[in-house]
Amino acid sequence: MTSSRLPMIAGNWKMNGLAADGLSLASGLASCFDGADSSGFEMVICPPFTLLGGIQTVINGSPIRLGAQNCHAAGKGAHTGDISTAMLADIGCSHVIVGHSERRTDCGETDADVKAKAAAVLAAGMTAIICIGETEAERDAGKTLAVVETQLAGSMPDGVTSANCVVAYEPVWAIGTGRTPSNEEVQEVHAHIRGQLTTLLGAEAANGIRLLYGGSMKPGNAADLIALPDVDGGLIGGASLTVDDFWGIAQAV
Ligand code: PEP
Repeated sequence: MTSSRLPMIAGNWKMNGLAADGLSLASGLASCFDGADSSGFEMVICPPFTLLGGIQTVINGSPIRLGAQNCHAAGKGAHTGDISTAMLADIGCSHVIVGHSERRTDCGETDADVKAKAAAVLAAGMTAIICIGETEAERDAGKTLAVVETQLAGSMPDGVTSANCVVAYEPVWAIGTGRTPSNEEVQEVHAHIRGQLTTLLGAEAANGIRLLYGGSMKPGNAADLIALPDVDGGLIGGASLTVDDFWGIAQAV
């Protein structure tokens, strides 16, 4: 974490939460900000599509920002079951996660798909949270840096700035498993990503873009991870589903 970049704590609720649970979680988080100093970090919650409208009402007036977990690359049209970035912006979203490994695996999303979605997010005036990360087999084969480099180069659209793009490094084998890379390994990958961003976008943009770590982040390990020089926050799955855990991570910042 570097003081020039505002840390971000983003919660990816995935396919969890009926209305009562989701609204209660969002309002519990909003209450945590009452009387708290919220200037030191930015909180984003990314509930399922079905809860976006209701949660926007609940968090309105709090510092919590609303994000979606996916979008379609096209502006509108014959895409049954999909959601456009204009629809997400219209309902109050400011952020959209793209390229999560579960979508890359479950839905076969390629880097080119992720790039097109991220471009649509930027065009709608929102911030793209672009996810990249290696599988366990790729790490074991010593390919981690090469894999994230290829994913990042293929997934980043034109027009990326520090204001409209956040990169989340999420080792696939650490997601939901309780396992994490060592702090040194996380910093190595983040420094590599920062170096690649410098090559692609120049030092100013690269120094401003926030790099989140994701994969079994919890209140107990968040402070050490976020203290690493090139880690600017977290993308959090399981531990974003309770007020205590998610607020505990925010407090670690
Ligand atoms: C995620 O899915 O983005 C994630 C980081 O999940 P978890 O925190 O549960 O590992």
